[in-house]
Amino acid sequence: MHDFAKVLYLLATALFILGIKQLSKVSTARRGNAIAGLGMLLAIVTTLVAPGESDRAIQLSWPLVVAGILIGGVLGTWMAKRVEMTGMPEMVALFNGFGGLASLLVALSVFWGDYLGSASFSGTAVAKLPEVSLGLTGPVVWAVAVILSILVGGVTLTGSLVAMLKLSGKVGDKMLPARHFITLALLATVVLFGWLGGWGAAGGWAAVSLVALTGVACLLGVLLVLPIGGADMPVVISLLNSYSGIAASMAGFVIGNSLLIVAGALVGASGLILTDQMCKGMNRTLLHVLVGGFGGDSVDEDAREYSNIRAYSPEDAAADLQLADKVIFVPGYGMAVSQAQHVVKELGDLLQARGCEVSYAVHSVAGRMPGHMNVLLAEADVPHEQLFPTEEINSEFKETDVAIIVGANDVVNPAAIDDPNSKIAGMPILLTHEARAVFMIKRSLSPGYAGIKNPLFERDNCFMCFGDGKEFVQGVIEALKNA
Ligand code: NDP
Repeated sequence: MHDFAKVLYLLATALFILGIKQLSKVSTARRGNAIAGLGMLLAIVTTLVAPGESDRAIQLSWPLVVAGILIGGVLGTWMAKRVEMTGMPEMVALFNGFGGLASLLVALSVFWGDYLGSASFSGTAVAKLPEVSLGLTGPVVWAVAVILSILVGGVTLTGSLVAMLKLSGKVGDKMLPARHFITLALLATVVLFGWLGGWGAAGGWAAVSLVALTGVACLLGVLLVLPIGGADMPVVISLLNSYSGIAASMAGFVIGNSLLIVAGALVGASGLILTDQMCKGMNRTLLHVLVGGFGGDSVDEDAREYSNIRAYSPEDAAADLQLADKVIFVPGYGMAVSQAQHVVKELGDLLQARGCEVSYAVHSVAGRMPGHMNVLLAEADVPHEQLFPTEEINSEFKETDVAIIVGANDVVNPAAIDDPNSKIAGMPILLTHEARAVFMIKRSLSPGYAGIKNPLFERDNCFMCFGDGKEFVQGVIEALKNA
């Protein structure tokens, strides 16, 4: 590898690490994104200009590269421009899946080109590998990397597609009978086909085994994600994100490209850290999420049956807010649906101008993707000093005059602490019910993502503010201004 290309790869790695570091804080996240993007541009340009810099010399077909960049660029721009903010979680899930697909295809095509494409392929794969494996990756590492790229890539692809369908509500939670048995049987098949592909089978049978491995991996992805439902999906989304990084890292071993190994490992590791945070946010262990599964298309039967409901109009809410000294906004998925973040900020500013203390409580699993609420509030320029995570703000609700809940439901559901049989039992929630008054802004008495009843609606200090989030908050602003 030329020293200059090595230096550029090192520089790209440094930019990735710096970018990720800055992404961990709201105040520096935009800059972090730009820095990591610059690192990726540098990585791509270096690889295109010096394709032999991978241990495995890559034969570039420029027409194919240009066609790929053009088609991918046009499609990506079109999708990014077209997607509604509410569709972002599904799009993120789809991109995770594409990452898995790319790694899977790299492994298959390199195997095809290097092994099957060689003049004679009568020996088993490992017997042939010393000829095709160079430098960074020895023959066994190479074979394992091919197998893991296909396995993790396939699981990521179909798991992410199922997650996308579940997030958009097109597929519900499905519990297969004997699911754990089927999963174990599939894992055994993975070991068998992996061994055949890398060591056991010769010639075309090795290729057939790897194609079969691809099929089993894709089936595993579906089976692993399909039964996970209710409130546990955030963990799955971040786990799939991590898998896409692990698959990319394995693809790096397959083509012997150190930068791809590092970049994939960074995504894999940060995805795992996020998964751990999501598990803490739900008070669940990863094992519980993966083997638990809620099962059934589950909206509880009593989820819409309420008594003791008090409805508030925007004018009622404004009248109370005129007297409030301390207000906490609690955004949730409904804020994303109604795109209410800008009016929420406007109301917050208006209250602050009247001398009221205003903060925003952000639950780690609010919305439909990790960081969803942070993204929306940052878009509306809410100062990040006013944003607080659950553990920091929960002690404040007792001294709060009004908790204004905009389209959140599961993350404020007291059943999580009061009802040990609840689907979300044990999940840390925002303790809005401890505030003097709670304004619950939503369109109806419908449940949230977990499909369960929320006893908060029936509490004496809770006032249901029925309507679209944006329209209701706009109404409150007008009433306050006219008061
Ligand atoms: P919820 O899904 O619990 O509730 C959202 C509420 O928003 C609904 O009850 C709905 O009520 C209301 N809503 C919908 N549209 C509007 C609108 N236009 N105006 C006002 N309100 C509206 O949201 P939370 O944020 O509280 O909780 C997130 C849930 O999603 C958790 O269960 C979490 O586990 C899960 N999840 C989170 C992911 C993540 O990564 N963050 C990923 C996948 C799932 P109504 O229809 O009556 O208006």
